[in-house]
Amino acid sequence: MQALSFESITVDELHLPLLKEKNASAAVLRLDKLHPIISGNKWFKLKFYLEDAGKQGKDHIITFGGAFSNHIVATAAAGKFKGFKTTGIIRGEESTHLSHTLKHAKEFGMQLIFLSRDDYRVKKIPFAIDDTMYLVSEGGYGKKGAEGAAEILDHCQKENYTHIVCAVGTATMMAGLIKASLPEQEIIGFNVLKNVSIDHELADLLSPAERNKKFRLSHNYHFGGYAKHTPELIQFMNTFYRSTGVPTDFVYTGKMFYGVLDLLKADHFPKKANLLFIHSGGLQGNLSLPKGTLIF
Ligand SMILES: *Cc1c(COP(=O)(O)O)cnc(C)c1O
Repeated sequence: MQALSFESITVDELHLPLLKEKNASAAVLRLDKLHPIISGNKWFKLKFYLEDAGKQGKDHIITFGGAFSNHIVATAAAGKFKGFKTTGIIRGEESTHLSHTLKHAKEFGMQLIFLSRDDYRVKKIPFAIDDTMYLVSEGGYGKKGAEGAAEILDHCQKENYTHIVCAVGTATMMAGLIKASLPEQEIIGFNVLKNVSIDHELADLLSPAERNKKFRLSHNYHFGGYAKHTPELIQFMNTFYRSTGVPTDFVYTGKMFYGVLDLLKADHFPKKANLLFIHSGGLQGNLSLPKGTLIF
């Protein structure tokens, strides 16, 4: 299996007429280049859970997710790298046709166990947990995940930026970015879930001092909800790729770039703003779109 390649992470300047017009600049931290399957932010979030599991002498990671979960496939791959058995508890009945995500997870040796949506909701694990097993919550949510995500900003010159922008699912990555941010910087998160306010979950991962740092969550660019998309979003992703060479995914990063450019158009940023976008990966998820939908 291809190794993780931290040297491949780059910071790419974005050249867009809109940025010039608004007297702003922007760059993208390309965590997507870390590995084709273990999308950047998922590796950072898993790192300290795996370390902790190792310290406790556990050899079997159990975690949760849907059929298109980047976290599931990243856990499978990271487990294979680090010598852990992995089991993925998957939301929904097994279908005859496995998603690309689950196929990849299986190839990395993950055992898949399917739960009905009702059982999944209460995380009803259909086997006994023994002391070889280490549970990682859905999406890697938790303090160890946030600590790992705080290391994301070690891969750029963070002091150059006025704003740091990310996509938000469980808010674990955003919590890490807030931890690592400088006092004058603002972290902006784009929630990809509809009708799910994750403000509390975010706050729970922060210390009281961190809760007073500068950050905000935008709930206006979910495009219908988790993993939903519209022709407008797809068209934006293709246009964005044509003008910048940066590929995006339709679940997370496409919505983030769309959202922040929309805010920029509406003059939400001060002049001379220098934005850093976190490209958190997730490109494997685009395989679930019909062929030809995206030009990259
Ligand atoms: C999981 C994921 C996110 C969201 O990260 P959270 O820490 O759950 O908020 C963002 N972007 C991509 C590509 C992801 O796979």
